[in-house]
Amino acid sequence: MLQNAVLAVFALALLPACATTTAEVRVAAKPEWRLVIHGGAGVILRENMTPEREAAFEAALQRSMQAGAAVLREGGAALDAVEAAVLVMEDDPLFNAGYGAVFTADGGHELDATIMDGRDRNAGAVAGVTRVKNPIRAARAVMEKSEHVMFAGAGADAFAEAQGLEMVDNSYFDTDWRREALERVLQERARTAADRHGTVGAVAIDLNGNLAAATTTGGMTAKATGRVGDTPLIGAATYAENGVCAVSATGHGEYFIRVGVAKTICDRVKLLGEPIGVAGDVALAEVAALGGDGGVILIDAEGNPAFAFNSPGMYRGVIDAAGSMVAIYGDSTD
Ligand code: ASP
Repeated sequence: MLQNAVLAVFALALLPACATTTAEVRVAAKPEWRLVIHGGAGVILRENMTPEREAAFEAALQRSMQAGAAVLREGGAALDAVEAAVLVMEDDPLFNAGYGAVFTADGGHELDATIMDGRDRNAGAVAGVTRVKNPIRAARAVMEKSEHVMFAGAGADAFAEAQGLEMVDNSYFDTDWRREALERVLQERARTAADRHGTVGAVAIDLNGNLAAATTTGGMTAKATGRVGDTPLIGAATYAENGVCAVSATGHGEYFIRVGVAKTICDRVKLLGEPIGVAGDVALAEVAALGGDGGVILIDAEGNPAFAFNSPGMYRGVIDAAGSMVAIYGDSTD
């Protein structure tokens, strides 16, 4: 869905360049600000989509990007922008984060989220929360209102509540289509890649050149109670360091944890001087070699965006002062 003809450069950015699906583009002019988002990677195929559903996802990605862009356009911080962008997707049942999160094997919801500020590498995360309406807000509160980086389980919910965040009953996160997915997975005793996509994330650079990243998820359909994925682990799914890059990942979390995907990418950029797309490819090749799949969104210190994924599709988008674009499938920019 090309929003603006001058965004042909984004078309290149969104278009996979090779089988392992990485695309990076050197954008000619340094952007004043830029935001890149994802809404999960997985087996997302045209033949399984209706035009209505495709349009709904594209519109949802646009709403998320517009929320983040509103912050950046006014000179706001990358940190505020990534939070604003993922908040929109947490509230949208299309995505596996917040309302619409997948079910655990026990029929509940346990949510993970993290946020990281590239200015000082301050970070906050929550794992296995069940009652805070917007886990990304809880992650930010951990970062800013506690001396810690990560809270888990009941203590994380209690912390969020004590900070005055909106709390809900666990059933608030229920949706029919996620319940059907749970029933199918339990019956077939098999989980497809489609049963976990929908995790959301954002990376941004602001007018001051600051980087930030955020990621939030319900995890995997029918995950065991207590299972924690890569999303809340700094360095696995999320990392941001000014002057280096910002990363948000989605995919089979166990593999992303084992590879330490986000930190691997940032370290390769920092220590080897690799372009972000190359570093993303290397990390995803490690994930693939172990048997995993997924994707990353990236932004470098100059604001260049990149996407890398080794799954058939990834909901994704990029926005800056010149316009915006979204893409879904691995083989095209729409
Ligand atoms: N990474 C998430 C997890 O394993 C799921 C996903 O991104 O699709 O919990």
